[in-house]
Amino acid sequence: MPDSVTQVLNSGPVGAKINIAVLGDGFAAADQTLYNNKVQEFLLDGVFGHDYFYEDKQAFNIFRVNLISVDSGVSTRQYNENGTPDDPSDDTIVSTTLRNTSLGYIFSGSWAHCWLENGANTSTLVHNALNTWVPDYNLVVIFLNNPNYGGCGGGGFQVVPLGIDWHVLAHEFGHGLGALADEYCTSRVYSGSEPGNVDVTINTNRNTLKWRNFVAPATPIPTGKGSCAGFNQGTRPADWDDTQSVGLFEGGGTNGTGMYRPVINCRMRGNTPEYCPICYTQMKRINDAKTEHTFLDCHAGDFNGDGKDDLLIHNNNSIQIFRSNGSQMDIVFSAVERVPGSWQFTAGDQFYIGDFNGDGKKEVAVYNSTNWIMPYLGLLADDGANGLRLIARYDGSMPGWQFSKDDRFYVGDFDGDRKQDLFVFNGTNWAFPYLGMLHSTGSGFQLVHRYDGTMPSWQMTKGDQFYAGDFNGDGKCDLFVFNGSNWAFPYLGMLSSNGSSLSMAHRYDHLLPSWQMTKGDRFYVADSNGDGKADLFVFNGDNWSIAYLGMLHSTGSALSMAHRYDGSVPGWQMRRHDQFWVGDIAGDGKQDLFVYNCNDWATQYLGSMTSSGSALSATWSADWVGEWNLGTVDRFEPCNYEGGKAHRDLIVHNHDWLGLIRATPTMQLQKIYYRFIHNYRYGRNW
Ligand SMILES: [Zn+2]
Ligand SMILES: [Zn+2]
Repeated sequence: MPDSVTQVLNSGPVGAKINIAVLGDGFAAADQTLYNNKVQEFLLDGVFGHDYFYEDKQAFNIFRVNLISVDSGVSTRQYNENGTPDDPSDDTIVSTTLRNTSLGYIFSGSWAHCWLENGANTSTLVHNALNTWVPDYNLVVIFLNNPNYGGCGGGGFQVVPLGIDWHVLAHEFGHGLGALADEYCTSRVYSGSEPGNVDVTINTNRNTLKWRNFVAPATPIPTGKGSCAGFNQGTRPADWDDTQSVGLFEGGGTNGTGMYRPVINCRMRGNTPEYCPICYTQMKRINDAKTEHTFLDCHAGDFNGDGKDDLLIHNNNSIQIFRSNGSQMDIVFSAVERVPGSWQFTAGDQFYIGDFNGDGKKEVAVYNSTNWIMPYLGLLADDGANGLRLIARYDGSMPGWQFSKDDRFYVGDFDGDRKQDLFVFNGTNWAFPYLGMLHSTGSGFQLVHRYDGTMPSWQMTKGDQFYAGDFNGDGKCDLFVFNGSNWAFPYLGMLSSNGSSLSMAHRYDHLLPSWQMTKGDRFYVADSNGDGKADLFVFNGDNWSIAYLGMLHSTGSALSMAHRYDGSVPGWQMRRHDQFWVGDIAGDGKQDLFVYNCNDWATQYLGSMTSSGSALSATWSADWVGEWNLGTVDRFEPCNYEGGKAHRDLIVHNHDWLGLIRATPTMQLQKIYYRFIHNYRYGRNW
């Protein structure tokens, strides 16, 4: 069996990522499965399966090098420590058992001798192996086939036997990647100058303390005094968290006194806790650019069925899911490159959120027609552990439907079985347009009807635009179709679904009630009077001298104009570039509109238009919503992250910032995050 390398975490090109090389010593041919399992257990499931490294694993590549040793187990050495285990100077070697291994390490188990040491050629052998197999390495982990505890490292290297657990590696990465200091204590007394590490200090002045932005005003500074102190200055609050509540505690940097640490116990002290806020933030900052994370591609959906919308963020080859608790988001899932099943994430993935299996939780249909040799449609569902796995995938085609580049999908339960289905339309890639009805079985999709070129009373053309909604209230999602560009005048069709096909309930040619259709009409499906039938709002800011908004009610088979607003809605002056989203701000079942304009005025306006059933009234905020400075780059996802009946929330996001906005009683910013989503107990990362 020759030596080999396998990339076990693949986040991107080596030049853009932090590359971890993993080597093994003392693993004979028969031990390679053991070695592979340990790499999985310690690194992938351990370090990269938890907290900081899980969140940011998109910043890392891991290369597992399989080196085949002649002998099984590494060389060992036994010292006589002469009763002074802290002092190596009087130690003598009792015995050395040499084995023929790939790297020649010798394990001693003696703390004073760094637990292990190099053999005569170890340095050369390690560097040869790295240059051969992982020349672009940034960090190195070497596993020794020895069952004891220990470890020796420095300079980006960690050498460990198999008796450790993953927390030790995560602690060591804190040194190697974050230049973090140890926060544990010995009996030493420190009397030197201010250390350069972010997580230890000699400064006891609250106003100049380097982690002062994470210290709550009520926390005494220092918080703990004396050798390796806990909270001993004043009363420890009942909700004090030993790892996440920040103060100033004497003892740290391997000193008992004279140097201070930020929390009672951090990963840099006790290994098993998560990083404290100071260490976490440092790791985030140092590796942030390599994650390639942004907030541009966000999707809201209730992925765990608790009634509160969660957040899925896609970045190139990764997705992350953040769970809403009603007022904040916390990470619950992070996947890089692929999820089991398998779906390989790429930049061109398009996500459609819906409850496709009727379990009360949202699933994710994902379509990619740009990054591979053929288009793919996948269905991602709950993996039972807060994440997603692929349960169905269609490569290039499914029975009755050939996927193509410009396929557009619309989510709606067109057969009323409470499993949401997909409509798919392609108007550009074939000789004539196609519309497919893809029924969801809960575990995949089946084409139940395909329209080739024409639907009942409707000649399909390239510019057809579809809007899904149950306009007759029979529990089966129907389709509105609008074409404003391909004929002498515009058309709007109401296509009613009977579960397996569509029929034309009404077609409007040129005119809707009290509305002359034009090319620039934009439609929004909303049940504005709460009668269970999907209605339409229609807006036109482009084709007339003023902007118009129509509130059209569905009778089930036709539309009537409930109210037309010419130029303004009470409380809102309409302008050309008004953008709309649908919500239910009052939670009264009468759907409302969010409205945003960032183009036509001296500043930006974000508003809501609340429906009484037959009319609208608007309120707005200008320029700022709390600390959020509205801008032209902002994108909005209407949702319900709070839970409850209302659908009154917006996730606002751009490249670097993400905010949670609640619309009542006025626009209010509930949370704001910069670069990454993390909820500090006190303070923030900017
Ligand atoms: Zn350490
Ligand atoms: Zn720390």
